[in-house]
Amino acid sequence: MAKQTTSTARAAALLIALAGAGLAGQGAAQAGEPIWDGNTVQMHREKLADGVFAFYADNARTLNAQGGAAATSGGLIVGSKGAVLVDTMLNQRLNRQVQDLGRKLGGKPLIYAVNTSAHGDHSYGNMFLPASTRVVQHANTRTYVDQHLGDDKAFMIKNFGTGRGIEQIKARTGDILVAPMATVTLDLGGKAVDIIDFGFAQTGGDLWVWEPQSKVLWAGNPVIASKPALPWLLDGHLVATLETLKRVYAFLPADARIVPGHGVPMVREDLKWHIDYLSAVKDKVQAAIDQGLTLEQTVAQTAMPEFGGYALFGWVHPGLNVPAAYRDLGKK
Ligand SMILES: [Zn+2]
Repeated sequence: MAKQTTSTARAAALLIALAGAGLAGQGAAQAGEPIWDGNTVQMHREKLADGVFAFYADNARTLNAQGGAAATSGGLIVGSKGAVLVDTMLNQRLNRQVQDLGRKLGGKPLIYAVNTSAHGDHSYGNMFLPASTRVVQHANTRTYVDQHLGDDKAFMIKNFGTGRGIEQIKARTGDILVAPMATVTLDLGGKAVDIIDFGFAQTGGDLWVWEPQSKVLWAGNPVIASKPALPWLLDGHLVATLETLKRVYAFLPADARIVPGHGVPMVREDLKWHIDYLSAVKDKVQAAIDQGLTLEQTVAQTAMPEFGGYALFGWVHPGLNVPAAYRDLGKK
């Protein structure tokens, strides 16, 4: 379950993938063009039920529909005693926006904040929370931040630009740690919120936030957005990721809603797109391995245009996911 790769390896893999797609090299990284701009994103609030709110970028709906890359989504759950913030955002500016949105919702104290993963756009804002807020993280996330924050910031600056408030980030790690495959329940007063590890989903420190009364699940990055967005197997582990997404699908009631890591709320059936995609990658790459094909030949034979439409498809599929599947399935 532990994180298998360092952020340096992850950064190298992503930058190679981005370069292959023409998004870096002469493009994004060197020109300082971020994937999305932490200095301009405006967060929007949507009420999903009494005391249950999704936060997402005000252009997320348009970007999701176009297959574009939207900024980080999160949310707030408010009980009679206080609230939990889901994800603390990339920088001080965005963290302030979500805290301000929260303050407008009845002024309950922010008792908890959850990081759905160690990824900076979900956790760098921890340091700007009130001192009294208790940070909830996966145990593997805290270990990762303790060991790799410097590398991680360098990686994030490459992809999100300099001068986006990343340089000043200091670690603020979890006060409450969720052990592998465990669930921690937070009592907000009249609302009990489950923080669940369903298994490896992208980083090995992936937490899902479940509010059972409203049947809303926050997914973080393992579910980027609805179709045509696709999973990013940044740290590999195709098989485990697929099993975890199937476990989440089986857990959810039919009328559950999902707040994805980078988009607007979706429904349970929208998860099928991600599961079907990873299942198809698994089958096709396994067939290629059985034929004795090289990685290059496998990538060429596994084009899968039926899953195209995502703006990042050109690197996430051939540059990241197919190679990850090839390594994972080739291990035996
Ligand atoms: Zn993210």
